[in-house]
Amino acid sequence: MVYTATETRLPTEIMSAHPAPHRCTTLVLGSGVAGLTYALRAAEHGPVLILTKKSRSDSSTNRAQGGLAAVLDPTDSFDLHVADTLEAGAGLCRRDVVEWVVREGPTLVRSLTKLGATFEHTDDHSEGLDLGLEGGHSRRRIVHSKDRTGQEIESTLLSAVANHPEITLLEHHLALDLWTGAVEGRQRCYGASFLDQETGATGLVRSERTMLATGGCGKVYRYTTNPDIATADGFAMAARAGCSLGNMEMVQFHPTCLHHPDAKSFLISEAVRGEGAVLRNMSGEEFMKERHPLGSLAPRDVVAREIDRETKRRGDKFVLLDVSGIGEKRFRERFPAISERLGNYGIIAGRDPIPVVPAAHYMCGGVAVDMDGRTEVDGLFAAGEVAFTGVHGANRLASNSLLEASVLAERAGAVVPEPATRPEPEPPPAPRTDPPLMDQGVILDHEWDAVRSLMLNYMGLVRSRGRLDRAVTRLAEMREWSEHLYRTNKPSSDLVELRNISLTGLMMAMAARAREESRGLHTRLDFPDTDPVPRESWSRFVEGGVEVTLRPLEGQPSP
Ligand SMILES: Cc1cc2nc3c(=O)[nH]c(=O)nc-3n(C[C@H](O)[C@H](O)[C@H](O)COP(=O)(O)OP(=O)(O)OC[C@H]3O[C@@H](n4cnc5c(N)ncnc54)[C@H](O)[C@@H]3O)c2cc1C
Repeated sequence: MVYTATETRLPTEIMSAHPAPHRCTTLVLGSGVAGLTYALRAAEHGPVLILTKKSRSDSSTNRAQGGLAAVLDPTDSFDLHVADTLEAGAGLCRRDVVEWVVREGPTLVRSLTKLGATFEHTDDHSEGLDLGLEGGHSRRRIVHSKDRTGQEIESTLLSAVANHPEITLLEHHLALDLWTGAVEGRQRCYGASFLDQETGATGLVRSERTMLATGGCGKVYRYTTNPDIATADGFAMAARAGCSLGNMEMVQFHPTCLHHPDAKSFLISEAVRGEGAVLRNMSGEEFMKERHPLGSLAPRDVVAREIDRETKRRGDKFVLLDVSGIGEKRFRERFPAISERLGNYGIIAGRDPIPVVPAAHYMCGGVAVDMDGRTEVDGLFAAGEVAFTGVHGANRLASNSLLEASVLAERAGAVVPEPATRPEPEPPPAPRTDPPLMDQGVILDHEWDAVRSLMLNYMGLVRSRGRLDRAVTRLAEMREWSEHLYRTNKPSSDLVELRNISLTGLMMAMAARAREESRGLHTRLDFPDTDPVPRESWSRFVEGGVEVTLRPLEGQPSP
């Protein structure tokens, strides 16, 4: 079937009827930077269909403020960017992938500019670009469009996709599960099932290859900087399809999320500290000065933990970001979106101290892939935040994720598709449509809250065996309950996402329990030391349970 750019909906039926699948060469799940970049490259090999669960620009990409790290200043070098990335990653980065990604940075900036993206300019730096500074970077290397960098990249890629004759993008199509089957003992992906959120009907897409670009999992936690789409769907779909997930305990908390009763998930970019803002406790003391040589610009894991420690020590709810050194005029010019948002809450940008707390921000682990984005399941690829490439190790360096997502998605898009063997296997099991539970909506709401609170309380910045045991026991029960409900009910987005956050939360807690050391983002009260041998955690979802193994990083074969 050939899709045209004017189509807005796939024909659907209730899945129990096993509708004939819609066909395309390449299916992409997600329309953030990874999905769009991949689609533009993959379209060289045939028609591409992108399914995205909300509106096309609803993504973490669209919210990225700080920018994209690339070596462009004459005093900078690839070696320095690699060294900063490895330092932040606390011994768990894969050096070969980091080196490749870092070297691609300048080319990426040039190709985005060629596509129409506009970045801030100045006379002072190489190629005329104004390069920002963020925590953990030893040089100015953050290419930005003030504090709307993600929006600039997302809209540039969306226009390129809209103008491409081989690419069709359908909004409000929520992927439910991957369609897999075994061929000669190996699992192969044949596409995915989906829910059309506007009609409530389900359907199937059959593809030669499928790209998972579904972003992160911040919504697993009660407090997050992530948008509502970040419900861990890709991690859970891949786990159910038989893929290994790596380093799922390595979740990055951003130190500076706005603390305000009316604000939901609003980030104050690290670039604000890069421009001179400092953290103070409620008595005005610059507490980070004594805790790390880089003070308020120490790596994110250090700053987030120190804020947590400081607020607990003093019994405060938040700390203050003192922006008076930047001044009102400069702040408004450099951070227009943040200024506007702060104004809505009565905070004068560049003058008033900003109340901030740490919040779940970024998943450094994910679905295990090789450098070309191949997962362990044939025909299934992953890129962006959902993928575990080894670039971020135990802690991501600021502004390295847009870079990693873009260059590795582009590389995966260059892989020539191999036709899937026929006949295709049975489609994924059709959900039954038993009558919904009485008060189903209310029960789902409570279960959502329960998972998210549990993750915050037991799988937060500081962990222990006792807390993780409770998390694992309760998440295992919630996963089973939501799976059963999904199997017996007509799918709704709340139910589908609950099924995904509870499985992903369980895999995160299991990985955290298995890692008996403190490293990077993972702090264990009962294991404060760092193991001399760096090891990655590999998790698999098998027969309703999760198996975790820790494997030495060196000599790690690609999946
Ligand atoms: C507030 C904020 C600020 C950030 N600032 C920076 C920064 O300055 N620099 C930097 O490098 N990184 C930053 N990050 C991180 C970075 O933005 C993300 O890691 C990156 O954009 C992820 O891109 P992605 O394409 O993997 O996912 P996303 O951009 O999140 O896109 C995921 C897509 O998948 C879709 N989707 C999800 N589930 C399904 C499903 N089941 N079916 C169909 N579609 C689905 C979503 O709707 C969305 O279109 C920031 C993140 C946040 C939240």
